[in-house]
Amino acid sequence: MWFKARTADVFDEPGCAKNRAKSESERKQGCAKQLSPGAAAGGCAFDGARIALQPVVDVAHLVHGPIACEGNSWDNRHAASSGPTLYRTGFTTDITELDVIYGGERRLFRSVREIIEKFDPPAVFVYQTCVTALIGDDIEAVCKHASEKFGKPVIPVNAPGFAGSKNFGNKLGGEAILDYVIGTREPTHTTPFDINIIGEYNLSGELWQTKPLFDALGIRILSCISGDGRYSEIASAHRAKVNMVVCSKSMINIATKMQQRYGVPYFEGSFYGIGDMSDALRRVARLLVQQGAPEDLLARTERLIEAEEARAWARIAPYRERLDGKRVLLITGGVKSWSVVAALQEVGLEIVGTSVKKSTEGDKERIKEIMGDDARMVDNMTAREMYKMLCDAKADIMLSGGRSQFVALKARMPWLDVNQERHHPYAGYEGIVELVHEIDRAIHNPVWQQVRIPAPWDDDGEGLGAGRAQFPEHMTRVPPRASEQDCAIGLRPGVAA
Ligand code: SF4
Repeated sequence: MWFKARTADVFDEPGCAKNRAKSESERKQGCAKQLSPGAAAGGCAFDGARIALQPVVDVAHLVHGPIACEGNSWDNRHAASSGPTLYRTGFTTDITELDVIYGGERRLFRSVREIIEKFDPPAVFVYQTCVTALIGDDIEAVCKHASEKFGKPVIPVNAPGFAGSKNFGNKLGGEAILDYVIGTREPTHTTPFDINIIGEYNLSGELWQTKPLFDALGIRILSCISGDGRYSEIASAHRAKVNMVVCSKSMINIATKMQQRYGVPYFEGSFYGIGDMSDALRRVARLLVQQGAPEDLLARTERLIEAEEARAWARIAPYRERLDGKRVLLITGGVKSWSVVAALQEVGLEIVGTSVKKSTEGDKERIKEIMGDDARMVDNMTAREMYKMLCDAKADIMLSGGRSQFVALKARMPWLDVNQERHHPYAGYEGIVELVHEIDRAIHNPVWQQVRIPAPWDDDGEGLGAGRAQFPEHMTRVPPRASEQDCAIGLRPGVAA
């Protein structure tokens, strides 16, 4: 019952045009889909909540459940910190069979006490999991008691794995922040240039590619939710003048509810690609001016954009000839399904298809705007279909997450990780240059020349090398080698897995 009400609340998105078109009674039901078997495959709700909140770097993240839940979710995304490292320490109550019989609440309370005594963090986040939810442990009550006893915020994150998908967990993590953190402290001072960035997780340090741009304009990131986040900053986020939502799929509920509760306007934007980065800066500046910031911010923003765009294009220019006409298959999700498309098209790459499995209706509309009606949008694809598409579409490279890398490798296709496990930051003007550089390195890696040569077995008795014709032509076509330096690239981790 609790989850039904929570689900309806979390998915009630007043900013969504589709939602607004519904009748009052339809809207009350929210936008949740009926859960089906396998809904948590690829990440459960707990995993989603953990992913959304673990980048808060100075708090202790305590997982109340069996140790495997902690092992499943610990630091799997390379969220970077500019200071504290406590977020990377794994804490779990590691419940046992006896706790299942007698209940795990005492153990949870003792664990919170131990963490506070040993590490003295500004707050402890306590995550519910399947087993502890099923045995009826009331983490809200334990957290409330511990907060009162130790005089520190102990925040319950009630998102047990069985509640639904990873994305639902992202939103439940956001709800915990809304209910227990935002609005609980006041900032030391405020300025007309204060903003929050929501849904940016600082993966591989991406936040640090955009923060200098805001700094140059005198715009202060009051809090980032949650990349490189600090507890006190998030607690005072309600005093920001504008919210920018970077990943609308995961945390739009924070922005809509902050607008309702504190009157903070928001917009959805992207930091991927030159055009989108400039657009994000313009929209932030415009909204800040509407909220009372001095008007000269607009002119300063335009000057910065002009200088940064010129610098980025100059750095991309050497790659254009090498990458012109290269075809890309993009298997990613959410905001990246359209923002990376736009970024790649900017540098002359052709997109043969993009996945929309994790995209909202708004994301799909944007893809159509960018790619036209011929956009090849792929909803859900088996590995076999992906392999066939790679071969049929004659792509030169696949950009995806780590799980599909082996399909690309089997198809002898260059592959680049653009999802959460990526090792390179691709945000902002710096990021697009980095992305183009990495695509160039992957496509022109000499290893493809080697792996596309048929194995020297004698399968038809006509001598070594027979059977070469079984490979489609595009698989044996290797781009020309540009220079020794360009080709001197080591294999990526996992290539030989
Ligand atoms: S919360 Fe549940 S689904 Fe998620 S990792 Fe733990 S046991 Fe598995």
